[in-house]
Amino acid sequence: MMKNISLLLFSMIIFVIMYSCSQKETADLIVSNATIYTVDEAFSTVESFAVIDGKIVEAGNSEDILKKYSTENLVDGAGKFIYPGFNDAHCHFNGYGVNLMQYADLRGTESPEEIYEILKQHYQKFGGDWILGRSWDQNDWDVKEFPDKNDLDKLFPDVPVYLVRVDGHAGWCNSKALEVAGINAKSKVNGGEVILKNGMPSGVLIDNAMGLVGEFIPEITTEQQEKGLLAAQKNCFAAGLTSVTDAGLGNKTVLLMDEMQKRGTLKMRINAMLSPSKENINYFVKSGIYKTDRLVVNTIKLFADGALGSRGALMLEDYSDDLGNNGLQIADQEYYNEICQLAIDNNYMVATHCIGDSANRLMLNTYGKFLKGKNDRRWRIEHSQIINSDDFEKFAKFSIVPSIQATHCTSDMPWAEDRVGEDRINGAYSYQTLLKQLGWIPNGTDFPVESIEPLFTFYASVFRTDHKGWPEGGWRMNEGLNREQTLRSMTAWAAKSSFEENEKGSLEPGMWGDFVILDTDLMTASPKEVLNTKILSTWIAGEKVFKL
Ligand SMILES: [Zn+2]
Repeated sequence: MMKNISLLLFSMIIFVIMYSCSQKETADLIVSNATIYTVDEAFSTVESFAVIDGKIVEAGNSEDILKKYSTENLVDGAGKFIYPGFNDAHCHFNGYGVNLMQYADLRGTESPEEIYEILKQHYQKFGGDWILGRSWDQNDWDVKEFPDKNDLDKLFPDVPVYLVRVDGHAGWCNSKALEVAGINAKSKVNGGEVILKNGMPSGVLIDNAMGLVGEFIPEITTEQQEKGLLAAQKNCFAAGLTSVTDAGLGNKTVLLMDEMQKRGTLKMRINAMLSPSKENINYFVKSGIYKTDRLVVNTIKLFADGALGSRGALMLEDYSDDLGNNGLQIADQEYYNEICQLAIDNNYMVATHCIGDSANRLMLNTYGKFLKGKNDRRWRIEHSQIINSDDFEKFAKFSIVPSIQATHCTSDMPWAEDRVGEDRINGAYSYQTLLKQLGWIPNGTDFPVESIEPLFTFYASVFRTDHKGWPEGGWRMNEGLNREQTLRSMTAWAAKSSFEENEKGSLEPGMWGDFVILDTDLMTASPKEVLNTKILSTWIAGEKVFKL
């Protein structure tokens, strides 16, 4: 009898083992043996997860996952560090791609002479009807004043030259470009300025005045634009980005992105904010929110003012280093009201570029009139850069999302106080105070204004120094975000800012398998280690899109 029972038990055990083996579920991908920051509510870590049909089905320790799932695609994490794919909550992905195709890169140039050299080479290489460049910054030069047209005229008397400042809020041209655009000393533009020198246009155009020349620049062909988008995507994957918010697009570009995604060439997930053109409004806004697995169109992007570097940011009081000037308002109140009403009617979000304290107040108050009180519409203020101390609480009161770019803080910190003085600087780049308003905050770069690198965002947000470690101990550190807050701002909170927090931004069951494998633990790394971190691979929906 005993013998029979043991035999029975033994065979039952064998049966259970065999049954469970054969019942192992097949996963498309298993990642094991890593430190995985899931960025879930509890900020927990796991060792392993399994992906089926692009989505994470289970996360936990390696042993359990491997017991339950089998796969032909097992990635040994080898003790490395995994994070949700980085999400840039405000950038210009298409613009960056177009730049790669059309514009000479002037970022980091230290003098006008260096720029002239680059332009000569660019023209020799690419030719074209125009010479275009982008990302000069007079703050990086010995003489920190706006340049003028004179040297450009000597070098290029017959070809129009148009060079966009690093922040996209000033353009520098030669006489040929001014002539083509019909600009003279009497040219006037609302929300913009033609800068004069000795009574003549100097060659520098501010904000809306840039459009006078901009409209004559030949449009990029669709073929070139596609190439540009793919080139942008390649660089972004190598930097660890799997999602971007493109802050201001036309419907043709959005449709091109959608088509490329459906064809499978463009894999980047995109939140496409619409510029408020009539075409965009009629095509997209009035037919409601558009959403696929990789594209969401649910936001109208507006501008309230210009940039701080070119003194186009709208301030309540004059600039401390330019008395008599308090910046520029891009459009009138009536216009902002009209767009906000349109957004309410079509369940769209509004996201407005606001740099100066007056621009921020203008839009906080305007939004407030439409939102009335707490809500879940997630209307956004892009940059939220200089806030008057009376206005911070309006973010909380009307549930308005402050969208920040930590590298703007570290790029601007050497001269920002010159512009606004020692009092107003207390409300500038105040990320911790902004975070407190809603308890969450999205972070981005505004590339190509800044570099595309999300690791630079992490560095700037946590350490608040330049890459050489200046200023020692960090700039206004009480307003920095800690590591966990920063990681959330670049992943889960960025997803939340486009209403996609149930799909991406954390590595939990049900979420897309969008992740990066790094060689560094960002939660403990020294500043130097953060900057030297290597992106080992980048994955979207369980598909490897970049490998070092
Ligand atoms: Zn922007």
